[in-house]
Amino acid sequence: MSNSLSHRHHDVVVIGGGSAGIAAASAAASNGADTLLVDAGPMVGGELLSGIPIDGCLNTRGEWIVGGFLNSLLDDLKKMGGFVGAFFDWRTIWVVCVDPERMKLAVAHRLREDGAKLLLNSFVDEVVTDGDRVTGIVVLNKSGRTLITADIFLDCSGDGDVAAGAGADYQRGDGKGVFQPVSMVFRMAGVDTGRLLDFARDHPDNLALGENEWLNKSREECLRELIALGYPKVFLKADGPLMSKSIAEGELYPTALLAVIPVSADLRVVAINSTRVANVDATDTGALSATMPSLIDQVWNCQSFVQKRVPGFEEAAFAGIAPRIGIRETRRIVGEETLQGDDVLNAVKRDDGVAKGGHHVDVHGDGTDQLRRPVRDGGSYDIPLGCLLPKGIENMGVAGRCLSADRVAHGSARVMGTCIAMGQAVGTAAAMVCESNVPKPVLGDVPLPALRDRLVSQGAILDGTH
Ligand SMILES: Cc1cc2nc3c(=O)[nH]c(=O)nc-3n(C[C@H](O)[C@H](O)[C@H](O)COP(=O)(O)OP(=O)(O)OC[C@H]3O[C@@H](n4cnc5c(N)ncnc54)[C@H](O)[C@@H]3O)c2cc1C
Repeated sequence: MSNSLSHRHHDVVVIGGGSAGIAAASAAASNGADTLLVDAGPMVGGELLSGIPIDGCLNTRGEWIVGGFLNSLLDDLKKMGGFVGAFFDWRTIWVVCVDPERMKLAVAHRLREDGAKLLLNSFVDEVVTDGDRVTGIVVLNKSGRTLITADIFLDCSGDGDVAAGAGADYQRGDGKGVFQPVSMVFRMAGVDTGRLLDFARDHPDNLALGENEWLNKSREECLRELIALGYPKVFLKADGPLMSKSIAEGELYPTALLAVIPVSADLRVVAINSTRVANVDATDTGALSATMPSLIDQVWNCQSFVQKRVPGFEEAAFAGIAPRIGIRETRRIVGEETLQGDDVLNAVKRDDGVAKGGHHVDVHGDGTDQLRRPVRDGGSYDIPLGCLLPKGIENMGVAGRCLSADRVAHGSARVMGTCIAMGQAVGTAAAMVCESNVPKPVLGDVPLPALRDRLVSQGAILDGTH
């Protein structure tokens, strides 16, 4: 590996290629900015590649609240046979289920079509600042160290590494060492959907159903709808007889959920979201790495549990795990504004919104603990640009799960549909301030009405859906 420091310059540099970062990079590039997307990993897509559904694309009422980049990505995915379906889960949310393997192709394809350049396997090692501006980042990879300068930097690293490195304030978890759990999502192939749904119909006490009062439907009605839908999308709850007995007897580790998610168009392959180790600060790499043995044990435990106890899985076989340990919560960067839990729960609308969220507040805890609170009337809330502007850094934006939000609001806004909407907003804003050709563009100087007009003209959904 070379010890020399090479240099490259771009208009916009996006750090992190998860749902927020790919939307940001595509939006910046397709709006004319020379854009580089840097990721520490060998693949782009972040948690989009793990098998979990994209939540927050529609509100509980079934109205799409995210468009633009999401539509382009889903169109690509549909052509590749990787779009499994968008449907209500008869619990509380609409989900968009996708094939994570085909998603790998769709993400890379979309970035290329939109003109974003890629730098993979490159970890941001250092942030260079000059007063209130970030002048560069130094990335480390097999070629050595590279100083990357840019007019605008967009931190979509999930953990807010770059904003924190530039001196931005942040909050972590609940501030007292409590963090949502890290998890390892895995897949099973050869599931018999008919038998699984028969089991759901005959043993509904095991299912989370009709959790949203706005639905105004009984559990029985929700169950009928779920069965009629025909997807292997069931949410086994910890206090149901099956899981509570197995957890009490030590057959299954303590967990709040066992969510089964279809990830193939033939509905024979599912992802399972269940494993968990709570209260780990995932920015502590040693602590995060130390969760791996426990998570792997839980994966193996869970796959044999479903084979043995859940009808429909008798012939199913383990088919793979997510590319990495999934992280729900680390840093929330303090921005010009902070999204408030009350605004999320009350579906507060704003004239200056640049993205929408609609996912329920979903804060996982230790063991069987999970807080789930719906957004008022099944609607949506608006995220202003200020939540995406780290306070005191004039040429940086953040998007994704490191946005500026209190812990409750974060429990909703962290989902991938909302991350995509935020990413498109900051990416577009970045390209617009670069268009002005001023020597030192300031992200917050983007004219808001023009940004909102541009976003809407490019398919984003900013108004309505009350
Ligand atoms: C187990 C689990 C289940 C979940 N279930 C759902 C669900 O069902 N539906 C839903 O919508 N959401 C779900 N979420 C939440 C959602 O997946 C995440 O909040 C969301 O994906 C965050 O997107 P992001 O773009 O901010 O970050 P990520 O998707 O985490 O992407 C961040 C990217 O940044 C890169 N990176 C990080 N640090 C650096 C660095 N220093 N230098 C360079 N690159 C860096 C990483 O390699 C990664 O590619 C779940 C999360 C977990 C963990």
